[in-house]
Amino acid sequence: MKINSQSMKLLNERLILKTLVEKGFLTRIELSRTTGLTPSTIGRIIYDLVEMGFVEEGAQVQTSPLGRKATSLFLTKKFCSSVVFNVGVEQTEVAIGYLDKSTEKLYEFPTETLSKFIVHVNDFLELIEKEQPVDPERTSVVFAFPGIVDPRKAEIVYAPNLNWRNVRLRDLIHCRQPIFADNEANLSILAESAISEDVKKSGNAFFLYVSQGIGGGVMINHQILRGERFAGAEVGHTVVEARSDVKCHCGNYGCLERFASLSLPVAEYEKSGKKLTGKTLAEKFDSLVKANKRGEQKARRALKDFLYYLSIGIINIVNTFNPKIIIMGGDSDSIWRNFGEELYERISERSMPKTLDGVIFRDTVFSGRTASIVGGNIMAIEHMIETLKVL
Ligand SMILES: [Zn+2]
Repeated sequence: MKINSQSMKLLNERLILKTLVEKGFLTRIELSRTTGLTPSTIGRIIYDLVEMGFVEEGAQVQTSPLGRKATSLFLTKKFCSSVVFNVGVEQTEVAIGYLDKSTEKLYEFPTETLSKFIVHVNDFLELIEKEQPVDPERTSVVFAFPGIVDPRKAEIVYAPNLNWRNVRLRDLIHCRQPIFADNEANLSILAESAISEDVKKSGNAFFLYVSQGIGGGVMINHQILRGERFAGAEVGHTVVEARSDVKCHCGNYGCLERFASLSLPVAEYEKSGKKLTGKTLAEKFDSLVKANKRGEQKARRALKDFLYYLSIGIINIVNTFNPKIIIMGGDSDSIWRNFGEELYERISERSMPKTLDGVIFRDTVFSGRTASIVGGNIMAIEHMIETLKVL
């Protein structure tokens, strides 16, 4: 880009918006300190951003014990930055997101077949456009999928557990807004990198997405690793039983997700005919965890192999990526809280010396499946800032 006063202005506008997204709200003086721009430049840019409807002025805040009061600036919620479809094998959640990174879940529907799914999506988009502050110029539509996704083309390359292949969303979805898509674990690690201080600081983290299947999203030096054909960090399809005849949806045998997805311990428990309470897999798994906590031997036995193979999967992650932070999430947001001690014991028994030093293991900071929704919104905000035009 040629540097002239217009392009300089645009760069500064982007920088200020990015800073406000990152920090939440700031005064003009704080913005000047954070960005290094002069107070007069900040003043001009903020004037434009208020005119453009991105930024609003809030309450007067005391910036120092003796200093004058200053006006806090925050990002508007007058329009939503995204409509996010968080697609699970069973259910799809529909949410909207705002520039301040907040999200609000609106609806949920059964995912079912591809053709029914597309009809649902188009219906919901029509409804949301009527009822929510959708801005045709600034709201993006984002999809989070379990599977391999080409994010540039918004194309589902292959979603094994749904058996959807080569789905070009832009050809099927009727809306004026830009359409994006990514893998749910990639969006989850993106969300953690935007919200959690440890991931922001380190930039080396892994998100293990455990649900009906197992997905992985990895960030190395602050960049999401996607790989040549977008299958980077698909740890669910790494083989943990080489001679196994247990066939996976992906075509291979003995994949991690055929031994350590949440469906396995639930099915194991229900094998004898006793059903777990709950409609969804997440609810049933939760009931199983509770039964285990109550000391029910049957629950303990049902979880045994799941925990064993999950620990093997985590050792493989440590030995492949050696991230600073390993985050567990997906259909359960408390795997580490409930089983961390046991998992860590197994992991440390089989890991190479020193590879676990300083490594943080934890559950996601987001409840339920919200991580990929927040990540979808972050993706939309990044797009909006990148394509910003000067007033
Ligand atoms: Zn597989």
